[in-house]
Amino acid sequence: MARLIFLGAPGAGKGTQAKALSHAYSLPHISTGDILRDAVSKATPLGQKAQAYMERGDLVPDQLVIDLIRERLAEPDAQGGWILDGFPRNTVQAESLDNLLSEIQQAYDSAVNFDVPDEVLVQRMLNRGRKDDTEAVIRHRLKVYRDQTAPLISFYQDRSKLVSINGNRSEQEVTQDLRKLIH
Ligand code: AMP
Repeated sequence: MARLIFLGAPGAGKGTQAKALSHAYSLPHISTGDILRDAVSKATPLGQKAQAYMERGDLVPDQLVIDLIRERLAEPDAQGGWILDGFPRNTVQAESLDNLLSEIQQAYDSAVNFDVPDEVLVQRMLNRGRKDDTEAVIRHRLKVYRDQTAPLISFYQDRSKLVSINGNRSEQEVTQDLRKLIH
């Protein structure tokens, strides 16, 4: 059982690790990026609202992701734990998550910060070749991360919930470390 928030820059390995742990422990892997990409590919109303922001590498409006997280955390499979990957991305979202969790009487165990040097991030993103992984968009996403998301490191540190891990290692080594957070 665990309720974990994965923090870290794009390309830091959050999605890869969330998938591995989600399989190993049957924890739902809740990725706002995956949910939004799916909505874009199906051209749903959410997808139509999100698409232009995503193509530029900007954050989509907070209310869209807050609403989708609220719905997702209410699903039956999310009652016994989860891994949040890519949410929250700024302090408004982090505060909304705290409020939402107290409403539904849940609490996260830790916010895990994946530490990876910038050059490694850029290289990894260029290698995975997603639609929003062109070099210019990657640079912009890193800037958005530094300006809006990185402040969450101190947000969770202030609440004594931060765990930092060295994400610049093999996938298996990082997974081994993360397993220790699950009880
Ligand atoms: P990701 O797969 O987490 O890198 O997300 C891909 C894109 O989806 C981001 O660049 C944003 O445009 C959008 N996105 C994902 N999660 C969020 C979020 N929590 N808040 C705002 N935008 C998000």
